Amino acid sequence: MAHLLQVGAGSGGMPVLDMVCRDRRITRVTLIEPDVYKAHNVERHLFPLSDVGERKAVLAERWLRERRPDLDVRLLVCDLMDPARQAEIDQAASKADIGVCAADNEPAKFHWDALMRRHGKPWTLGEVLSGGIGGFVHWFTFGGPCYGCVAGHLQRTIVLDNAPPPDYSNPGGPVAETTIPASMASIHVVASLHALVTLALLTDPVGYAPGFTSLLFALQRAPEVFEEAFRPHRFRVPRAADCLICRPRASPSSVEELDVALDQALARLGNE
Ligand SMILES: [Zn+2]
Repeated sequence: MAHLLQVGAGSGGMPVLDMVCRDRRITRVTLIEPDVYKAHNVERHLFPLSDVGERKAVLAERWLRERRPDLDVRLLVCDLMDPARQAEIDQAASKADIGVCAADNEPAKFHWDALMRRHGKPWTLGEVLSGGIGGFVHWFTFGGPCYGCVAGHLQRTIVLDNAPPPDYSNPGGPVAETTIPASMASIHVVASLHALVTLALLTDPVGYAPGFTSLLFALQRAPEVFEEAFRPHRFRVPRAADCLICRPRASPSSVEELDVALDQALARLGNE
């Protein structure tokens, strides 16, 4: 009996949702996804051309019900960061056992990280690199590094200096002009790894120790990024003592302080 909270049912999120929900331990799903299925999605998505024009959330619910009629599926057809829906999202997070983040933009990932830490819930994140040359799977637990710690650490490591920006293959996303869409094959490799890590973390949320906190899997040789194809790179990212987002505080943090921390984290990523 486990409740999965997932944000995102795009080309990367949908196969993760599908694979995780094949596991009978998952008995309830809450999916946050506001987008409409578009013609350009069909090339990389599980849904057919005839579904164009419908909400991805509704299509995902139908997909799951056709495979798991027993599954309790609930939809939040809204943006994760919609101020008017935060009470509902908080409520869902408080009742979740595990979270899956398949959001396609940095502000949403930071927002999700704050949500899951606020409720002390374990969660996972998958990121396909632009062009599908490889991808990341990260996992997070209460007391471990936050997304800001991980993003800051990886940004400073040599291997990623020349890597293209993460793009869970979402043409039309906020950085579409700077990214090359990944192939469905690349997306599904990363989605499968993401699903495996999620299910393992669900099995043992306290003791999970796969030998990495962030797994980078190279799928193609790419000059100045990956010397070899099909090679894993394991990172053990520690919690950063000076992290403005997750460092312990003497007093409750104000909204302004959190805004400053978020701005600084985004600036470090070069998104500002
Ligand atoms: Zn942190």
